[in-house]
Amino acid sequence: MNETTIANSPVIERVRHELKRRKLTVVSREQISPSMLRLVFSSDDLADFTSSAPDDHIKIFIDTGADKPEMRDYTPRSYDNEARRLTIDFALHEAGPVTAWAIGARIGDELDIGGPRGSAVLKGPKRFILIGDETALPAIGRRIEEAADGTSIISLVAVADEKDRQSFGTKAALDDHWLVRPEAASTDPSVFITALRDLPLTAETFVWIAAEAAVARAIRNYLVEERGHPLTWLKASGYWTKGKADGADKAI
Ligand SMILES: Cc1cc2nc3c(=O)[nH]c(=O)nc-3n(C[C@H](O)[C@H](O)[C@H](O)COP(=O)(O)OP(=O)(O)OC[C@H]3O[C@@H](n4cnc5c(N)ncnc54)[C@H](O)[C@@H]3O)c2cc1C
Repeated sequence: MNETTIANSPVIERVRHELKRRKLTVVSREQISPSMLRLVFSSDDLADFTSSAPDDHIKIFIDTGADKPEMRDYTPRSYDNEARRLTIDFALHEAGPVTAWAIGARIGDELDIGGPRGSAVLKGPKRFILIGDETALPAIGRRIEEAADGTSIISLVAVADEKDRQSFGTKAALDDHWLVRPEAASTDPSVFITALRDLPLTAETFVWIAAEAAVARAIRNYLVEERGHPLTWLKASGYWTKGKADGADKAI
């Protein structure tokens, strides 16, 4: 890495948060699109809830009667300390314990969460390409909504149905691309790579990728190896792994 690259690299500030476990109650349930269920939770425990980056995650704990609860990562889609509310969007798919819980959740049901333990706050980039599937849509939507004036964002989101498209209020200049493919194709990276071939990839563009782990890896490899995008301007995560429970791979 040369000096210019270092000088021009984005700064990622790591912020630690006090690790707390909170008990929440479901206060609203809305099917916002065919494959996305939005639950809003309320609790006095949320008075000091903090999430400093759009791709933060909390742990959801589900008691299955085993020795330890099942734990999965979810994005705080939005939160409001004064109103003591937290919103989480659940992508619906082959149901493991958390998705099954969300599908069955009713107003008044309780959920235990932990975290976020920390946030990776990205400083510097004014241009973004945000790439992901339904599980990444909460983080992508949040980044678009929280973007400052003067930011430009291209989003590439794969969904199973035209009706799964979402719209976001933003100060950024947004060029959103919705890649409609069947859910069975959620492990095929080609829909993303075909779309990326037509997109300019200018210097100092931060590329954020989250999808099924093999898909995220293939997109990352295409951008780094074929397009020469610097690793310092890219973050790729596997938000789930086909055929594997609790299959997050956050450091691709
Ligand atoms: C940092 C981070 C943030 C995340 N944020 C969100 C979020 O805000 N909303 C959200 O919906 N998800 C989010 N995810 C993904 C979510 O944690 C996983 O999809 C998780 O596996 C779901 O748990 P589960 O108990 O339903 O299934 P698991 O018990 O983990 O898995 C059961 C089966 O379902 C399959 N499976 C898991 N996810 C999918 C999928 N998306 N499509 C098809 N099959 C799947 C697995 O391969 C496995 O065979 C996030 C993941 C990470 C790492």
